[in-house]
Amino acid sequence: MRGYMDKKADIVIVGGGPAGLAAAAGACKEGVKADRICIVERDGELGGILNQCIHNGFGLHTFKEELTGPEYAARYIGQVEEMGIPCLLHTIVVDIRMEADGRKKVTVMNRSDGMFEIEAGAVILAMGCRERPRGALNIPGYRPAGIYSAGTAQHYVNIEGRMPGKEAVILGSGDIGLIMARRMTLEGAKVKLVAELMPYSGGLKRNIVQCLDDYGIPLKLSHTVVDIDGKERVKGVTVAEVDKNRRPVPGTEEYISCDTLLLSCGLIPENELSLDMGVALNPATSGPVVNESLETNIPGVFACGNVLHVHDLVDYVSEEAENAGKNAAVYVQGGKNKTGEESVAVRCGGGVRYTVPSIIHIAYMPEEQVIRFRVGNVYKNACLTVRFNDKVVMKMNKRVMAPGEMEQIKLKKNRLEEFEGLREITLSVQEEDS
Ligand SMILES: Cc1cc2nc3c(=O)[nH]c(=O)nc-3n(C[C@H](O)[C@H](O)[C@H](O)COP(=O)(O)OP(=O)(O)OC[C@H]3O[C@@H](n4cnc5c(N)ncnc54)[C@H](O)[C@@H]3O)c2cc1C
Repeated sequence: MRGYMDKKADIVIVGGGPAGLAAAAGACKEGVKADRICIVERDGELGGILNQCIHNGFGLHTFKEELTGPEYAARYIGQVEEMGIPCLLHTIVVDIRMEADGRKKVTVMNRSDGMFEIEAGAVILAMGCRERPRGALNIPGYRPAGIYSAGTAQHYVNIEGRMPGKEAVILGSGDIGLIMARRMTLEGAKVKLVAELMPYSGGLKRNIVQCLDDYGIPLKLSHTVVDIDGKERVKGVTVAEVDKNRRPVPGTEEYISCDTLLLSCGLIPENELSLDMGVALNPATSGPVVNESLETNIPGVFACGNVLHVHDLVDYVSEEAENAGKNAAVYVQGGKNKTGEESVAVRCGGGVRYTVPSIIHIAYMPEEQVIRFRVGNVYKNACLTVRFNDKVVMKMNKRVMAPGEMEQIKLKKNRLEEFEGLREITLSVQEEDS
C-alpha cells in the first residue's frame, strides 16, 4: 500500500476516507488501470473519520447490516487492496495546479520523500470536512482547559483511551455531539445538558432517540452558552434561552456546574485546496459547485463526500463517490470539456438551502439523476414541489423534513429531454396547509 513513486497517474484522489476509497474503486470498475490511480492520504491509515466512529449504525443502506465505522471502512479498504490501487499514506497534498494542456500538477509532501509532484489527468477532491472551532462561535469567558470540539473528544475517548472530563455540557446538537453525549455517558461521565441554539436539532432523529432519550440526557432547544466560568479549568457554564433572532433572553440564565464543554456546532468542508486552485464554491455548502458528473468548474476536477457537502449517512458518501470515480474515469478516457455547453440550472426555491448537483448537462446525465438537498427549517406535512421552468412537474408529500436530514429526489433523463426549452429546475418546500 505504500511507496508509490511513479510521478504520473491518470487519477489522483485527495483523501483516503470513505469518499476517496469508493471513488478509487469506482474509477477502477470503469476501466482505469489500478496502478494508474493514486490515493493520497495524510494520515497513517485509510478510512478517514470512520476510524474514530466505533459506534454502530453504519452501512444499513449499502450492506443491510449495522456496522461500526472501522468495519464499514474495512470493506472499502479491502476492495481497494484487492484491486491493487496504490495509496500514499502519511502524505499531504499541499497544492494542485492546472497545466495549459489540462493536466494537473499535484504537489505532495511526506517525511521519506520530501516534497514532489504527481502529474494527473484528473483529480478527485475527497478531503472531508472539519468542525467549526470555538473561535468562530464568540462565546465570552476565559480560555480554560476542558473545552473540546466533539470530534476531538471522540478521538481522545475512542482512539487514545482518555476521558476529557467527568461532568459535561454539550453545545450544539449535531450528530457528533449527540453521539458523544452517549459515548461519554457509557464511559461514566455525567452529561448534564445538550443545548441547541436553533429551535430544532441539527442531528438525525434516530440519534436524538438513541443517544439522548435512551439515556435521559436533556436537550434544550433555542438555548445557548452565554458564559464560561473558570480560569484554569472549566468550572461551569451559563446557559440561556434565545429569542427568534438568536439573542439571549435576559432573566433566563441558568448556571450549570461542569468540568467539560463539548462543542458540536457544525462541520465545514476542507476547502483550502479547492479555493487555491480556483474551484467555485457554493456559499450554502462551502463545498464546490458541481454538475451532474460531480465535476467542478475546472474540467477534470471532481468532488465527493463531505468536502462537497456534509452528509448525514456514510452510505450516501460511498454511492456519490463511486459515481465521481466513474465520471473521472470517463474523463481521462477521452471525456469532453463541457465548459460553455448548454446546461440546465438546478435552483433552490423556498425552503430549500442547496442542491447537489446545481448544474445538469442533459446529454451527460445518467438515466436517473439523483439530486441531494437539505431544507433550511423544520417542515411538518411538507410538500416538495419540482418545477421545470415555471411548470410544476412533480409533487411529493413528506410527514417531516428537517435540516439535519439530507433529502433526495431522482429525475429521469427522458423527462428532461422531452421538456422543450428546459432552462431551470426549481425545488421548493412548503407546509401543506400554508
Ligand atoms: C463523529 C462522526 C460521527 C458520524 N457518525 C455516523 C453514523 O453513525 N452513521 C453514518 O452513516 N455516518 C456517520 N458519520 C458520517 C460519516 O462518517 C462521514 O459522512 C464520512 O466519513 C465522510 O467521508 P469523507 O471521505 O468525505 O471524509 P473523511 O472521512 O473525513 O475523510 C477525508 C480524508 O481526507 C484526508 N485529507 C484531508 N485533506 C487532505 C490533504 N490535503 N491531503 C491528504 N489527505 C487529506 C483526511 O485525513 C481524511 O482521512 C459520522 C461522522 C462523524 C464526523
